[in-house]
Parts: sequence; C-alpha cells; structure tokens
Amino acid sequence: MANTRLKPSCVYLVGAGPGDPGLITVRALELLSKADVVVYDHLVSKELLPHARPDAELIYVGKRHGKHTLRQKQISQLLVARAKAGASVVRLKGGDPFVFGRGGEEALALADAGLAFEVVPGVTAAVAAAAYAGIPITHRRLASTACLVTGHECPDKPDPDLDYEALAKSRGTLAFYMGVANMQRICTNLIECGLNRQTPAVAIQWATTAKQRVVTGTVETLPESCKEANLRPPAMVIIGEVVRLRERLRWFQPNQCSVVEP
Ligand code: SAH
Repeated sequence: MANTRLKPSCVYLVGAGPGDPGLITVRALELLSKADVVVYDHLVSKELLPHARPDAELIYVGKRHGKHTLRQKQISQLLVARAKAGASVVRLKGGDPFVFGRGGEEALALADAGLAFEVVPGVTAAVAAAAYAGIPITHRRLASTACLVTGHECPDKPDPDLDYEALAKSRGTLAFYMGVANMQRICTNLIECGLNRQTPAVAIQWATTAKQRVVTGTVETLPESCKEANLRPPAMVIIGEVVRLRERLRWFQPNQCSVVEP
C-alpha cells in the first residue's frame, strides 16, 4: 500500500480523525503525503499538515456558523476545478468525511461533475469524544443503540425532522454534534418528550486533544453547567446511562487539565 500512486483528476474525501493527530488512519496519512492539493477544514489538526508534500498546494477552507451555502458551493467548485485541471486532491475533513460536515454534498458535486472520487472513513467525534471521556458509547446492559444527531439542523429545511419523542424513547446513547448553541432547547425537548431528567449527560470540548474539557451533569443540569463553564464549540454532547461509567473508566488526562466536575 505504501507505493499507491494517486490518480490524477481524482478527489479523495478523507477523514482526518477527531483532533489527536495520532487518530488519523494509515490510508489517510498516505494520501495526504502524496496529494498535489490538500483542501482542509477548521477542525483538522494542524499537526497533520507537515505530512503533505512540500510542494503541495494547501488550501484552508475552514468555516464557522453562518454564510454556509455560498461558502460550501465555493468549496465544491474548488474541488471540481482542481481535479479538472488534473490534480490529485485530498479533501481533508475533521472526523469522518460523511458524518455531518457536508461531505455528502461535496461527493455529490464531484459525481455531478463526472469526476472520480474515493472516500476514506475517519474516527468520528462522537465515538472518539465518548472514548476519551471514559464512556463506552454502547454497552450490553446500558445502551443497545447510539444515535448520531445534529444539534443544528439545516436552516433552509421547511420542517425540522428531529423526532425528539423517538430520541427520548430510544433508551440508548444520544450523541449530539454541533449542540452547544442549542443545548438548552435540545435538553428541554428531550425531557418534555419523556426522557428522565436524571439521565446522565456530558459535554466534551476539543475531545482527544490537550485542550479537552469535560462538563458533566444530567440532561436537566448540563446546559446551565456548560454556560457557567463557558463551554464553546467544538463540543460533543453525550446523553445516556453509559455516561455513568465515566466515574470508573476515566483514563485520559489532557495536558492542560481543566476538567469541570460539578
Ligand atoms: N465530520 C465530523 C463532524 C463535523 S460537524 C466528524 O465526523 O467528527 C462538527 C462538529 O463535530 C462540532 O461542532 C462538534 O460537535 C463535533 N466535533 C468535531 N471534532 C470535535 C472534537 N475534537 N471535540 C468535540 N467535538 C468535536
């Protein structure tokens, strides 16, 4: 595999993992080290970039809240343009390229343009954040399902399709991406739809990195505790009985230890 040659005019949609550069896959690292062009996001560890070829073109397309549509269209156009010009392009995205983060839209743009592409899965934030907080995302006795949920639905969608009743009834683990801004609403909706207000809940910011911070509580108390702790994105909110296991399974000690445990 180490001698794989990248295809010209091909876009590789590559997961960079959740933050700790060590959590990138071998395949991803290999593609990164060979691509002509690397297009990367805000959440990609900067420590990975020196693995690119010294003559590679590195393009930062990070974006935060707001003005998504145009920027996203431009990113897709950029990928199409570079590939059409003959380059091998690595589109490096935080976590897994197809878990939120609009990788599916980029793949569709490539397909529409008739371009070749490949997808390299990555370690997604829900799984990694839970693991680095000492929480098995599923557990034989405590959670038979784990739902990956967006805390920030597409603003242009006429009917938001988050079914809080189904989520509240799932009796499994709920992992909210992009949930910081709407945390109060998410937790209130879940309680109103029947989730026990004592259900343990946790927010994990900058998971797997030296900056990791964890705020713990219940689905009722977590939003307020996060406000007090001034917790900002990026963070995962994990809700469910498995969160209790953290007390016994906490193993990761970030360098700048700033754990908030009420
Ligand atoms: N494709 C990514 C998710 C992109 S959406 C993946 O598979 O992980 C961006 C959201 O992911 C953030 O708002 C946050 O909720 C979550 N996230 C990504 N990296 C994170 C990290 N290191 N720590 C906590 N949350 C993270």
